[in-house]
Amino acid sequence: MSISPRVLLSIDYEPVFALFRHYDHIRDKALRRDMDGGFTSRAIDSILDQLGDAKASIYLVGEIAEWYPEVPQKIVDAGHELGLHCQFHRPLVNVNQLADDLRDSESWRKPYNVRGYRAPMVGISEDAYPLLESFGFTYSSSIYAPAGTMLKKGNLWEIPVSTWRTRDAHEDLVAPRDFSFKLLLGGEFPYGSSFSIGFLARRILTILEEELKRGHSPVIIMHPYELVKPASSSRLTRDLIRNPHLIPFLWDKSPFLRDLLKSFPTSSLKTYLDETLSNSMTGIASPLRGSQ
Ligand SMILES: [Zn+2]
Repeated sequence: MSISPRVLLSIDYEPVFALFRHYDHIRDKALRRDMDGGFTSRAIDSILDQLGDAKASIYLVGEIAEWYPEVPQKIVDAGHELGLHCQFHRPLVNVNQLADDLRDSESWRKPYNVRGYRAPMVGISEDAYPLLESFGFTYSSSIYAPAGTMLKKGNLWEIPVSTWRTRDAHEDLVAPRDFSFKLLLGGEFPYGSSFSIGFLARRILTILEEELKRGHSPVIIMHPYELVKPASSSRLTRDLIRNPHLIPFLWDKSPFLRDLLKSFPTSSLKTYLDETLSNSMTGIASPLRGSQ
C-alpha cells in the first residue's frame, strides 16, 4: 500500500505578541506571561474543538508550557502531535542561540518525547540539523519547498512547508529557504504560509486539491490567533498600526480550516513520516529523496 496523500496540517502555537519583533528582547518571564494575557490558555480548547477528529502537528512555544502546563497535556490527550516551535519566540537562525533555546525547552519536552521542530519564522541554517539530531529530534519542518519534497539531513528529515512552483526552477534546496522575494522571483509561491492563506483562502483550497491529486501531501501552517480572536487591546492596536503588513495574520481563518477539514484528510507530520519510513523499508514506492 502506498502512502495515502493528505494535508499535513500544522499549528505554530504561540502568543499574539510573537508576531512583533520589537518584543524579542524581553526576557522577563512574568512580563511575557502578562503580555499573553491568558490567550494561549483560552484558545486551546476552541482549537481542539475546531479540529474535531482531524489530527495535526502542534508546534508549541515552550514558555506556554511553563505558563500553562495543561496546554501540552491537552494537545497530547486529544491525539495530536506535540512538537517544538522554540522556547521563546525570536529568530533562531544562529545555531548557538538555537542550542541555548533547545536546552531551555528540554525539561518539558522530555516527558512528551517531542520529535518534531518548526523554526520560528521558518528560518533555519544547515548547521541546525546535526544540532537538532543531537537533541533527539527526528525531523524538522523549517524551510519552504515544493510539496512532495523530503530531504535527509544526516539522520534527520526536513519536511518543508509547501510552495507551488509556477515555473521550473532549479536550485539547491538548502537552508535557509524562508518566505522571501527571492523565493517568489524564482517562481515559487509559498501557499503553505498562513500569510498566503489570509489573502487567498479559496485559491489555496484548490491548490491543495491539485497537490493531493498529484499524490503529494502538502504542509501548511496556521496560528492560534487565526482561529480564535485575541482580546482587543490598545497595545495590539498600536502594534498593528506600526506593522500593517502583519494585519492578514489576524484575519479569522476558521472558515478556511472548516472547509479544509470537510474536503481533505489530514494527519500530523510525524504520522506521515513514520508511515513513509516504514513503507520505504518494505520497498514500496515512497516520496523519500536524499539531500541535494
Ligand atoms: Zn512562529
